[in-house]
Amino acid sequence: MKRIAVLGSTGSIGTSCLDVLRAQPDTLRPYALTTHRRWTELSAQCRQFQPAVAVISDRSLLSEVDPTAFPPQTELRFGAEAVAEVARHPEVDVVVSAIVGAAGLQGTWAAVEAGKVVALANKETLVVAGPLIMQRARERGAQLLPVDSEHNAIYQCLTAGRSAEVKRIILTASGGPFREWPLEKIASVTPDQALVHPTWNMGPKITIDSATMMNKSLEVIEARWLFDMPVEKISVVIHPQSIVHSMVEYVDGSVISQMSPPDMRLPIQYALTWPDRIVGVARQMDFTQTISLTFHPPDLDRYPSLKLGFEVAERGGTCGAVLNAANEVAVERFLKHELAFGAIPRLCREILSAHQFDASPSLELLMERDRWARQEALRWNS
Ligand code: NAD
Ligand code: MG
Repeated sequence: MKRIAVLGSTGSIGTSCLDVLRAQPDTLRPYALTTHRRWTELSAQCRQFQPAVAVISDRSLLSEVDPTAFPPQTELRFGAEAVAEVARHPEVDVVVSAIVGAAGLQGTWAAVEAGKVVALANKETLVVAGPLIMQRARERGAQLLPVDSEHNAIYQCLTAGRSAEVKRIILTASGGPFREWPLEKIASVTPDQALVHPTWNMGPKITIDSATMMNKSLEVIEARWLFDMPVEKISVVIHPQSIVHSMVEYVDGSVISQMSPPDMRLPIQYALTWPDRIVGVARQMDFTQTISLTFHPPDLDRYPSLKLGFEVAERGGTCGAVLNAANEVAVERFLKHELAFGAIPRLCREILSAHQFDASPSLELLMERDRWARQEALRWNS
C-alpha cells in the first residue's frame, strides 16, 4: 500500500490523479488532499476518499469554510505551510505535485527535502529552481518522476540506452489551437479562443501557455534540469495528434518514442506505481482504426515564446524564475482582458532583459527575483 499526498487535488491533474487512485483502492490510498480555494470540491473529495488530512492553502477562507462538510476522520488545516507539512509527513510515500505555478515550489521542496518519491506535474518548480531542486533530490535520495507527458515519455524512452548514447531528446508539441491561423490574426485572439485546446483538457494557465507555446518553453527548461541535458541536445517538433508524447534519439540513429492517447491518467499512474506497470484507467491505442501521425518543425515566427525557452535554458541562473513569474502575471492579465495575446511573449522578453542576472542564485534570491518580475509584469504596458 502506498500513501499519497495530492497537492492540488481539485485541479485538472489532481482530479485525474483521483481517477487513478479510485481504480486502485488496494494499493494506492490518499493520505492528504489540498486545494487553494475550492473547498466545496475538496470536501466532496474527502467524503469519497476519507484522507487523514485536507488542506485549504488560502487562509482567507478560514471563516467561510463549513468544517462539517468534511468527514470526521479528516483533519482540516489551512495555509501554505500545512501543504508543506503534508508533503514531508512520515506517513506519505508519494507526493503528487499538482499545484499550478511557482506556488507549487514550497510543497515540492518540502517533499524533496524529506526524500520522498515525487510525481512532478508542477513544471514551474523546475523552471524556477531546477538546479537547486535536482541537487537537493540527490542529497536527500528523493526520486523525481515526471508527470508532464513529454518528460514522462522521455523518462521511459531513456531506459532504451545509456545516457552517453543519447544524441538528443525531442519534445513533441501539439502546436496549440492557432497552429494554422494567419500570423496577423494570432496577435489579437481572445481568452475564449485561447482557452480551447485541440487535444488536451487542462487547467486555464497551462492551456494559455500551450496556445502561446510558452508551455513548450517551460518544458525545454524542465527537460534541461530534470535530465541534465545540454540545450544543444533538446529539440522541439510539432506533432498535432498528441499521440507520440516525446522521443529520444540515440547516436546510432534509432529514435525511441512513447505513444498513447492524450490522457494524463497514464503518466500519473506510471509515476504512482513506478517501477511497476499495471492495468489502469487511461484510454488505450486502437490500432483497428487508421492512425495518422505527422511531424513538422516549429515556425519560430509563429511562436516567439519558444525561442525564449531555449535562451533561458541555456543561460540558467535567475532567468527561469523571472521568465516564469513574468509569464504567470501576463497570463492572468490576458485572461482579465488587460493584455493582448501577442503581448505575452513581448512582456516576458522585456522583463527578462531588464532583470538583474545572477548565475548561481540561492532559493531566497530566486524568490526575490520572482517578486520583482511580478511587480514589473503587473505595471508593464505595451
Ligand atoms: P489547475 O488550475 O487545474 O489546478 C491547480 C491546482 O492548484 C488546484 O487544485 C488549485 O486549488 C491549486 N492551486 C492554485 N493556486 C494555488 C496556490 N497559490 N497555492 C496552492 N494551491 C494552489 O492546474 P492543472 O492544469 O491541473 O496544472 C497543475 C500543474 O500541472 C501545472 O504546473 C501544470 O503546468 C502541470 N501540468 C498539467 C497538465 C494538465 O494536463 N493539466 C499536463 C502537464 C503538466
Ligand atoms: Mg506537457
